[in-house]
Amino acid sequence: MSITRFVTSDGLPGLLAFLSQNGRRVLVPVEKPANKRSVVFEAWKQGQPFTLEKATVPPKAAVLPQCETLLTYKKSKDPENPERVSISLEDGIRAQPTVVFACRPCDARGFAVLDRPYLEGPFADPYYKARRDQLTVFTLTCASGCNTCFCHWVGGGPTSLEGSDVLMTEVEGGYVLQAVTPGGEELLAATDLPDGAERFPQAEEARKAAWASLEPAPNIKDAPQKLAALFSNAEFWQEQTDRCLSCGACTYFCPTCYCFSITDEGEGLSEKGGRRLRSWDNCMSSLFTREASGHNPRALKAFRMRNRVSHKFSTYPENWGAFSCSGCGRCISNCPVCLDIRAIVLAALNASQATAE
Ligand code: SF4
Ligand code: SF4
Repeated sequence: MSITRFVTSDGLPGLLAFLSQNGRRVLVPVEKPANKRSVVFEAWKQGQPFTLEKATVPPKAAVLPQCETLLTYKKSKDPENPERVSISLEDGIRAQPTVVFACRPCDARGFAVLDRPYLEGPFADPYYKARRDQLTVFTLTCASGCNTCFCHWVGGGPTSLEGSDVLMTEVEGGYVLQAVTPGGEELLAATDLPDGAERFPQAEEARKAAWASLEPAPNIKDAPQKLAALFSNAEFWQEQTDRCLSCGACTYFCPTCYCFSITDEGEGLSEKGGRRLRSWDNCMSSLFTREASGHNPRALKAFRMRNRVSHKFSTYPENWGAFSCSGCGRCISNCPVCLDIRAIVLAALNASQATAE
């Protein structure tokens, strides 16, 4: 068994203080009661209150900020010969050692989903890599599911290890911490927390109870092929999408959506210069695929929904061997018209079954 430690509930601020040493930023879930009681990840400071509730906004920004400066540029004239100009370029790779503390297993699996295209493709993204290399993930196992969670449909679960460095499980009086990776082991070994081995059986019981609380998961392993077979069935996608408002909440709250847009701001190639920004984009917006000519290959919201669902449950799995949805349920709980991605996947499985019969 990997190394374990035990921390009392009262000892959590001390653990956060330890983790904050050596310039590490520790992101903890913080309640924002004024903002419809949302829970967001913020950098912890001594004395700051925090919560261990599931965050309403995933911690994805730890590796993929909502907006970042990729580079700055400017033109300079040679003072001796003003006809001669040079262009200077500075890249903006900035990363700080970071701990995400008390995210849930679906969010930790979200990092694993992002890692494949950003790190394992033909070109690793240096901005993402710099942050990911310095990230440590402390995941709190869930005591039970909720009515929008479906992590166990998509290969995860309330106690899943994927994407985590340390797994925390609540037991009587505190939390058992279990190292999952060498990085997690190194951090836990450096704490002065007592060994957690004696309480580990309690943690195992709690983990079993979490699994027992879940409704049985439907078998969606054929979703990639079934969705691909429905690609040209516009009627199906229109039926699934009619009430969508194209607001994009489902993408912005998703721990696994990773599309971005690049924009240049400033005075261009001048002496004042400019900067190139990368910011989150939203495939549910009609502007997402509009081309410079004005042509839009996904002008209909039905086609945008087809893209979103098919990417998560068909094309990404075909490329990477796993769904690009961690079943966190945030797209369901935040959709203003209660569209449910689970229902669309199940409808696709049923529709293509009906077609095959
Ligand atoms: S959150 Fe709902 S309404 Fe908004 S774009 Fe997504 S599916 Fe459509
Ligand atoms: S698609 Fe929905 S349920 Fe799946 S990871 Fe994204 S927000 Fe969560």
